[in-house]
Amino acid sequence: MHIKAVPDTLTKLTQMGDVTLYEPAGDQPQSEKPNGRYQARSLADCISNVSTPTGKKPILKTMLTTACERDCFYCPFRAGRGKTKRVTISPAQLADAFDKMQRARQVDGLFLSSGIIKGSITTQDKIIDTVEIIRKQYQYRGYVHLKIMPGAQYDQLYRAMQLADRVSVNLEAPTQERLTALAPKKDFAVELVKMLQLAKQIKQEHPHEKLANTVTQFVVGAVGDTDLELLSVSERLYRQMGVVRAYYSAFSPVTHTPLENVTPTAPIREHRLYQASFLLRDYQWELEDLPFVDNGNLRTDVDPKRAWAELHLRQQPIEIMTANREQLMRVPNIGPVGADAIIAARRKGRITDISQLRKLGIHAPEQATPYILLDGHKPPAQLRLF
Ligand code: SF4
Repeated sequence: MHIKAVPDTLTKLTQMGDVTLYEPAGDQPQSEKPNGRYQARSLADCISNVSTPTGKKPILKTMLTTACERDCFYCPFRAGRGKTKRVTISPAQLADAFDKMQRARQVDGLFLSSGIIKGSITTQDKIIDTVEIIRKQYQYRGYVHLKIMPGAQYDQLYRAMQLADRVSVNLEAPTQERLTALAPKKDFAVELVKMLQLAKQIKQEHPHEKLANTVTQFVVGAVGDTDLELLSVSERLYRQMGVVRAYYSAFSPVTHTPLENVTPTAPIREHRLYQASFLLRDYQWELEDLPFVDNGNLRTDVDPKRAWAELHLRQQPIEIMTANREQLMRVPNIGPVGADAIIAARRKGRITDISQLRKLGIHAPEQATPYILLDGHKPPAQLRLF
C-alpha cells in the first residue's frame, strides 16, 4: 500500500490523533463527537465521519502543528502545557500523506487547523500552502474545511475561501469580556469579528466566484456565558455576516490548564443551543421569540420550540386548515417540509384527523395535539409529555 511511503508523517498524524476537541467540521457536529484522545493511539483517531453537502464522508481532521505560542485557557495545545507532545508536519508532508490516504480510500475530505507559531500570518500561509498542493499537484476536488487564524490578512482569507468549501472563524465567546476569560491573547473585534466582516466583503466583491461558506464556533459554559449572549451573537452572524452555521461546543476541562477545575458543561445545553440556533436560522424566529429563563439560559428539560408553544399555543392553538406557513412551523414537530405538505394537502381536502398528519410525514404528530385545531376541533387529548 502506498501509505508506507510516508511513515513519518503518518506516525506524526497518529501522535496528534483527535485534535478536534472543539472543532466540528461538518453539518452534524454532534455526530462528530471527539473521543478526547488528542494525544492519539491510532490513525483512526484522526478520521471522523462528517456530514458534508455531498453526504457523509471520512474526513482527516488534523493540525499542521500542535505547538502554539498562544495560551487559550481551555486548549490542550496552549503554550506552556507540558503534558502536550508537540508535533509539526510540513505542508508538503501533510499534502502527501493526505493524497495517499485519499487514494487508499481511507479518507475523502480534509479539515485542517493549526497551532500558531511565528504569528497568525505565517501559520495561515502554511495552511494555504498545504491545500494549494492538495488541489493543484494532487488534483483533489473533494471537501476541504480550513481554519482561519485570528488576524489573518484579506488576501489569505480570499485565497482560503477559493480553495476550501468551508472556512471557520471561531469567535469562541460571545463578547470580548468572555473571550478574555477564555483566551486572553485573542482580540474579539480586531482578530475575529473582523475576519467575518472581511469574508462577507469578499463574497460581495466576488459574487460570481465559488467561495467557501463561513462558519464559527463557541466554547460553551466555561466562563459564565449565557445562552442569550451566545444566541444573540449567532443571530447577528446569520443575519448580518452571512455565516451559515454557528457551532456550540460544550466546555470540557483539560488537565493542566487554567480551567481544569471548572465544571464541564452538560451536553444537553449544547443540544438546546443547536435547536434554538436552527429556529433563528431556518425558521425565521427572532431572538425575542426564544423562551429564555431568568438566568439568560434556555430550559434544558424541554426543547425551545415546545417551551414557546407551552407559553403561547396551549391557550390559543393554531388552526391547521388556515394557518400560514410561518404559523404552522411554530407548532412542535412541524418543520418547513411538514408545513409545505400540510398546505399542499389542505388544498385538496380537509385535515380532520391526526392520522392524516402522520401520512403527510409529520413525525409523532400526537405530540403536536395540545397546540393545534383540526378543522375547528381540538384533537383527542394526549398524555402530557412534561
Ligand atoms: S490559538 Fe488555537 S491552538 Fe493555540 S492555544 Fe488557542 S485554541 Fe489552542
